[in-house]
Amino acid sequence: MKFTNSEKLHQEALQHIVGGVNSPSRSYKAVGGGSPVYMKRGQGAYFWDVDDNKYIDYLAAYGPIITGHAHPHIAKAIAEAATTGVLYGTPTELENTFAKMLKEAMPSLEKVRFNNSGTEAVMTTIRVARAYTNRTKIIKFAGCYHGHFDAVLVEAGSGPSTLGTPDSAGVPASSAAEVITVPFNDLNAFKQALHRWEGEIAAVLVEPIVGNFGIVEPFEGFLQEVNELTHRAGALVIYDEVITAFRFTYGSAQQIYNIEPDLTAMGKIIGGGLPIGAYGGRKDIMEQVAPLGPAYQAGTMSGNPASMAAGIACLEVLQEDGVYEELERLGKRLEEGILEKAEEFGIHITINRLCGALTVYFGVDKVTNYSEADASDGEAFATFFQLMLNEGINLAPSKYEAWFLTTEHTDSDIENTIDAAGRAFAKMAE
Ligand code: PLP
Repeated sequence: MKFTNSEKLHQEALQHIVGGVNSPSRSYKAVGGGSPVYMKRGQGAYFWDVDDNKYIDYLAAYGPIITGHAHPHIAKAIAEAATTGVLYGTPTELENTFAKMLKEAMPSLEKVRFNNSGTEAVMTTIRVARAYTNRTKIIKFAGCYHGHFDAVLVEAGSGPSTLGTPDSAGVPASSAAEVITVPFNDLNAFKQALHRWEGEIAAVLVEPIVGNFGIVEPFEGFLQEVNELTHRAGALVIYDEVITAFRFTYGSAQQIYNIEPDLTAMGKIIGGGLPIGAYGGRKDIMEQVAPLGPAYQAGTMSGNPASMAAGIACLEVLQEDGVYEELERLGKRLEEGILEKAEEFGIHITINRLCGALTVYFGVDKVTNYSEADASDGEAFATFFQLMLNEGINLAPSKYEAWFLTTEHTDSDIENTIDAAGRAFAKMAE
């Protein structure tokens, strides 16, 4: 494959856009460097780049594009919104309609508020939890990404439960000191943290199914225990469902595990591809938010008619019969097919998969927490990524990211992907 035009655009981008990309995860730094591919068109499960190469897309824009690119029902909703005005700064009926749809999907959402990104949504749930509990400390799980605001750009130090250290320059140590990080799926470490900072924890921030060091499910009973122990400690449970909302089932992760968090943050899929965030939860907690309560949160773009219309249209598609069953069927076949090819060529991988999302880890037997994901072979992934790209398979350029199927992927896309993986593994085995 030739990438001449992508390379040219990247050289130009480097002169004007910092690092050439508007989000660091889009760079190819983690997969051997070079120019990222510049796409010019997406349709269904496919992408075409500026050199006219065609790809089967498993990036799905890091999760939101569950109905494929340019889905006609969503495209129509956006086009209609464009002709009637995309931003009013006044309330609209669309916001009510969409809020009711979210509440029907997740009964824990007694009240919701829309904003513009997952980052904003999670950030506000933390503020609201602090306002409600009058405490400041937060527990999060190591390796879970919750957006790019100060409080969550924090990684664990050594030891099972530690006060965080800033994960980014510019994050004050004082901010990181409000965050305690414990390993995912480790109840003992979690209990220790609750005990050590007794009376200080405002909330526990949980990705109920991890999506940010690959797809990692909670151990049986883990989330129930976290819920119970957190409440016993007088703190709130915040679910970050930015990836998981509407990804594995319409009722989201909280339905799968039959747990009601106190607050939930959402984003990605609920915008149908347009910028969005939303948060919601128990009425008495949500009533902390202005104009009812003392916790301030606002947004010029929040609840804009275009994002609302796209989000409603996306959920309408996901309400159709059999959507998640089909994602499960295709996801299962993809997992089995890749595992078969890996075995055939002697490549050591493990796959974590739930429904239509999976991660292929190289050189490890299992991944149940961040340190196991971190131990997977990044160089082997980088080689695989480049080989797959040249096969016309577009993956996220990081060993920590998931592959996302869409409602538009077909059996033949899956078989072609399995064959491509087989050829990639064959080269890796040479
Ligand atoms: N929370 C989770 C679980 C995420 O995966 C992300 C983004 O990848 C965010 C929050 C931040 O969302 P956004 O990129 O829309 O700000």
